[in-house]
Order: sequence, then C-alpha cells, then structure tokens
Amino acid sequence: MTVKTVQFNNTVLRDGHQSLAATRMTTAQMLPVAPELDDLGFAGLETWGGATIDSCLRYLNENPFDRLRALKKAAPKTPHIMLLRGQNIVQYASFPDDVVEAFVNCSAQAGMDIFRIFDALNDVRNLRHAVQCVIKAGKHARGEICYTTSPVHTLEAFVQMGVELEAMGCHSIGIKDMAGLIKPGVAATLIRELKKRVKIPIVLHSHDTAGLAAASYLAAIDAGVDAVETSIAPFANGTAQPDTLRMLALLDGHPRRPTFDEERLYKLQEYFTGVYQELAKFTSPANEKVDADILTYQVPGGMLSNFRTQLKEQGMADKFQEVLKEIPYVRACLGYVPLVTPTSQIVGTQAMLNVKFGRWKNISQPAADIALGKYGKTPGPIAPEVLAQVEKQTGKKPITERPADLLEPGMPKLREQLRAKGLPDTDEMAVLYAMFPQQVEALLKPKAPAPAAPAAPPPAPKPAAPAPSPAPAPAPVPLPSASPRTNGHTRHFAITVNGVRRMVTVREA
Ligand code: MN
Repeated sequence: MTVKTVQFNNTVLRDGHQSLAATRMTTAQMLPVAPELDDLGFAGLETWGGATIDSCLRYLNENPFDRLRALKKAAPKTPHIMLLRGQNIVQYASFPDDVVEAFVNCSAQAGMDIFRIFDALNDVRNLRHAVQCVIKAGKHARGEICYTTSPVHTLEAFVQMGVELEAMGCHSIGIKDMAGLIKPGVAATLIRELKKRVKIPIVLHSHDTAGLAAASYLAAIDAGVDAVETSIAPFANGTAQPDTLRMLALLDGHPRRPTFDEERLYKLQEYFTGVYQELAKFTSPANEKVDADILTYQVPGGMLSNFRTQLKEQGMADKFQEVLKEIPYVRACLGYVPLVTPTSQIVGTQAMLNVKFGRWKNISQPAADIALGKYGKTPGPIAPEVLAQVEKQTGKKPITERPADLLEPGMPKLREQLRAKGLPDTDEMAVLYAMFPQQVEALLKPKAPAPAAPAAPPPAPKPAAPAPSPAPAPAPVPLPSASPRTNGHTRHFAITVNGVRRMVTVREA
C-alpha cells in the first residue's frame, strides 16, 4: 500500500512575519529568495492577505497589488495563497458584495491562486459570497474553520461546518488554529471525523504559541491530513508556524515525510536571519517563546505583546493579569466568539474597559455591534444582561440578516470618490480605497522630489538589547463601525492590531 506524502505550505512571506515582526517584511526583502522558495517543493506559498495589505499601505509605502504581481513573477510555479476575511475582505467589518467580488477578481488577476477564506464568527453566511466569487474567477477556494474551544464549540459543530464548506463548493478545507490551541489528540480526532464526512483535501494551520503546533501536525499527519503549514526560522515557531526543518526532523522515518533539500532550507534560514535582524525593532522576545497562558485566555499570540503596550498607554500596566482574566468572561458574554481578527481585538479592548470602568459600564461600539448581530451570528447566545444594556445604550435591536445584506453596492460610489480626488478609478484602487482611504490617497499623491542624497553618515551604534516593539503612531484611523454613528458622550482609545494602531470609540453608559 502506498502512503501519500503530506504536503507543506510555506507561510514565511505572510503569517511568519505577521506573527513575529508586526507584518513589516518589505517586498524588497522577499524578492531575492522568492525563486528559491518557489523551487523547493512547497505545495503553496502564503504570500499575501491578512494584515500585509494594511501594512504595505500604512507603513511600507507599497502598492499591495504591485507586491503580489512581483512575487508571482518571481515565484511562478508554486500556487500563491492569501488569507481573506470573508465579507470583511482584509478589514474589520462587512463590505458590500460587489466590493468583495471586485477585490477577489483583482487579486486573481494579479496572480493569487488559493484563497483561504474565514469568518471570525464561523458564520458561513459571511463566507458564501467570497467563496462563490473565487470559484467564478476560476481559482481555488479554501474554506476555513476557525478553531477555538468553548462549551458551544463541539467536535460535531466543526465537522458540520466542514460539510457545509464542501457543499458550498470549496475546493479544500482549512482548520485555522490562529491561537495555537489545538492539541494533538483533538487534531487527530477532528481530521479523522472530517475525513469520514468530506472528500475534499484538509489542511491544518496552527501556531506554536503554546508549543503544541508541531506535535499537533504530527498527530494530524497520522490521522490523514493532506497538508500542514510551516514557516522558516527565525520567522517561525513561537507565535508563528513551526519551522520547516524542525517539522522535517519530527517526521524523520515517517512514511508520509516529504522530501526537501535541507541544505537549501538552511541557506534560506540564513537569509531570513538577516531580514529578522533588519526588522529587530518590530520583533519581541515575548513572541518567540512558548506561552501556555494562551490555553486559558485564548488571546492570539501576536496580540499579547501589543496588549501590554496598550495597557501601558492607558496607565493600566499593573492590570495586565486582571484584564487577561476578564477576556474569557467577556468572550462568554458575547456568545463565545472565536478570538481572531477582529473579534480578538474587540474582546480584548472590552475586557480592558470592564476592568477600568466596571463590567459593561462602557461598551465599545464594536462590542455592541457583536451583540447586535452586526458581525454575523455568534456561536452561542449573547448574555441577556449584556444584550439589555447594549439595547438600552444604542436604542437598537439585534439584526438576524447577513450583515452585508443591509449594504448598498459600493463600487460606483468608490470610483466616483476617486475621480473627485483626481485619483485613478481602477478596480484595484477602488477596493483598496474602500478599506484604507487615507493610506491610498497618501500612496497616490504625487511625491515631493527627493532631496539630493547626502554623504552616508557612519552607522549608528546598535543598542545592545532589542527594542520593544510598540508600533510608531500613525494618524489615528477609526475602527470601521458596523452600525451608524450615535450621539452621546464618547471616548477614544488607541489599540494596536497586528502591529497597526487604531482608534476605537466608546460611548459612556
Ligand atoms: Mn495564522
């Protein structure tokens, strides 16, 4: 009997640096090794999506579509993978269907092959349209199940979601363990049960935050998973995916072990060590180590260090443990939402507000919107006392529709807005403008001629200790609210999401 070799997808150009270096790797840092990554035998390269688009525009002064085209050209053989937040595209709230479709088409045309599509609430209504657009574009739709643990997240519920994703037309299923919570035994059982009920391939994506990912991959491989996702050290392990070489060592002698040229992988590791040093101010030792706290609090690894910064700014540095303990309570009250962008930030911020002002005395607009169904159907019910408080504060009742059903088409207006500003009204610019208007304007604005380069100064001495990684503060950008503005006394809080600073508005109760 022949045993099928397990496939490895590589995440170093997306999740690797998003999890460990605040998403700051530049296209120039990626391109020199893109052909090598392309040639090693990975089944897919995750190169785009998630926070990379935001980071390109906000910090790196790059056109994200130009990045995708350049990477595709440099790595044409291996399918490219992107992370797409379903109806939220790569932002924090629902966009109209026509904007989602235009985004998918532009991405497909720029070279994207495999779309990993998830919804933070696992509400399949928020996935269906994006999946259909990807199928229509002739590309591969990978429906993602966000893995989390709670009294309402049963094995059967996850398997059922897999069945729905297959019925929806997905070409494969991803188990997206964004916080690194899945344990080897659970991974094995989940893969085995899914394999009994669906025919399409299954991919396990985890993070090594709690030190479980490599062992869970091994258990999943024994149970028949088709592919797992690894990265390349030092953009690997800790809050990122397990390192490829480490995973190969773990599989030594295993009948499903894939073959890779390890010499070449070591060379890549050397290259990325240099890049990691260049990005030192965005890296943090806290993200590199194994932290079992995650199993209790479920905060995705990349958020923990940002969270420390956020609390410090609020003068609440001494309240870190208290706020961390409040997170599971807030999550339970909000229907046990999985903690993944954007719900991780919303629940974390609400936990902070609860500790600062008393439970539910101040409810952030996004937290109220979760309670009101504006992000979709929560896995469990909203705590009645919290819903009553939200209804009183907002004067609104929960919606039961798919949130995007309440939105007008967006593309005609977006093109009009671009034209009015004298900017190119292409679909690429329109979809980016829908999500990041100020950043797109800044990108397209004619640049002042660069001053003549002065003679290079001697390099500044490097500080001995790695600097902590608070993101430099850009102009505050409001967190898109899924509901219209309301009046009342408001407060503003800065929060840091995937290395990107945002403001959230909170109304006084
Ligand atoms: Mn991930």
